[in-house]
Amino acid sequence: MEKLAIVGSGPAGLTSALYAARAGLAPLVFEGLEPGGQLTTTTEVENYPGFPDGIDGTELVGLMRRQAERFGARCVADEIVGCDFTGRPLKLKRSGGEQVEAACVIVATGASARYLGIESERRFMGKGVTACATCDGAFYRNQDVAVVGGGDTAMEEALFLTRMCSSVTVVHRRDELRASRIMARRAMEHPKIKFAWNSLVEEVLGDDRKGVTGLKLRDVRTDKLSELAVTGVFMAIGHKPNTDAFRGQLDTDDVGYLVVDGVRTKVAGVFAAGDVYDHVYRQAVTAAGSGCMAAIEAERYLQGLNV
Ligand code: FAD
Ligand code: NAP
Repeated sequence: MEKLAIVGSGPAGLTSALYAARAGLAPLVFEGLEPGGQLTTTTEVENYPGFPDGIDGTELVGLMRRQAERFGARCVADEIVGCDFTGRPLKLKRSGGEQVEAACVIVATGASARYLGIESERRFMGKGVTACATCDGAFYRNQDVAVVGGGDTAMEEALFLTRMCSSVTVVHRRDELRASRIMARRAMEHPKIKFAWNSLVEEVLGDDRKGVTGLKLRDVRTDKLSELAVTGVFMAIGHKPNTDAFRGQLDTDDVGYLVVDGVRTKVAGVFAAGDVYDHVYRQAVTAAGSGCMAAIEAERYLQGLNV
């Protein structure tokens, strides 16, 4: 039986692995389908403390992994597809059906930003297409950008981007925002924010050298095509927390985020870390911080069990 299994290898999972490994727990880390997590989908990370010149996202999580392994964390390239937390030991099901037993589990499976799913969007991912204004807004200083979506996240991203960008066009598929009234009003009254109503992104325009140069939009009422010149596109059409493997075993909210008390789930010995429960901050440093908290809680829990 494992003392501690950690599900996920983003900043949250790897930080909990580091702390747990240093506490002598030799945690087993399941990396999932995206080893290193969301940061491997971006280029420069400028807001992770300790790197005054910025650091490549993949390199940053690579360093986190090396640091955790140095103290005895074991990373395996596999996904957890189910679990049984009703008895002891806790049970996790690997992708091949094999079962892993553990005294304690940290769930750090993150959340994935939703994207439109069109080919040109994939082509310019990280070269003008992103899903995080707090992370990447600074790269678009004094430039014209677009935000896709009509919810609170889209309004928040658009308002944030007005601080550094010349203009922000919110592209929304309807003529009415989903966002709360207060957020919608703030965005609609802002002089730097414009709206492209009833518009779907047909294609992200650009070339491999310059990156994104614009969007081809389709008016959903008339099918008329138009072009919007922008150098950055921020997708804000929602996030999907990666909690399918824990459905029915851990409490989730309407969207699927884990419901926690601090980093504790409702099951004793199962803790959560990072974006899998935190839909407010969604940053590498906050994910790492909660990974540390979860590992300390796990260590205390195991001490209580005398494991
Ligand atoms: P994630 O990084 O999402 O990692 C989740 C992990 O869980 C992955 O390893 C995945 O493989 C694994 N997993 C999922 N399901 C399973 C399963 N069933 N079994 C096993 N493993 C599983 N933040 C910043 O602070 N600064 C930035 O500059 C920045 N830039 C960003 C740019 C982009 C394009 C994006 C999308 C995000 C950016 N972020 C940035 C946000 C940051 O990446 C996240 O807040 C952070 O990665 C969350 O860490 P996490 O460990 O909770 O989850
Ligand atoms: P959301 O409320 O689900 O909004 C998603 C938006 O994206 C909607 O406007 C939706 O359009 C649009 N959309 C979805 N799929 C699309 C597609 N394929 N193509 C084009 N547009 C698409 O998600 P969210 O904005 O991330 O918010 C999630 C939750 O967090 C909400 O409960 C929100 O209130 C909350 N939140 C609150 C705050 C705050 O209060 N400050 C900030 C952020 C988030 P339709 O409207 O047509 O469906």
